[in-house]
Amino acid sequence: QQILDHYKNPRNYGELEDPTFTHVGENPMCGDEIRMDVKLDDEETIEQVAFSGDGCAISQASASMLSSELRGKSVDELLEMDRDDVIDMLGVDISPMRVKCAVLAEKVAQDGAEIYQGDLDVEKTTTEDD
Ligand code: ZN
Repeated sequence: QQILDHYKNPRNYGELEDPTFTHVGENPMCGDEIRMDVKLDDEETIEQVAFSGDGCAISQASASMLSSELRGKSVDELLEMDRDDVIDMLGVDISPMRVKCAVLAEKVAQDGAEIYQGDLDVEKTTTEDD
């Protein structure tokens, strides 16, 4: 229910005008695409998050929930998240097939943060090799 609500009424959908970093990713298994825009404040705390994209209900709802969840967290806290945190956040059992849908937004945000920190160099995140 929560997933459907976020899918139908996504929070923070769109693009930020002046993001600190932006990253995109896809889950080719399902055709999900997500773009995450993140704006940090002077203390590297996440101030604003916006997402856009297209895909199944789980991928879009996960991005919507994550965009709300990340506000006020530090970049380190973002990088410490793992797939269990995302599945807990969604609050439902996710079949192994759909886990990639669920974690796409988190991976995109984390890769974006690592690129921003200079620790990673990829153009696009994909769940394929996961
Ligand atoms: Zn999907």
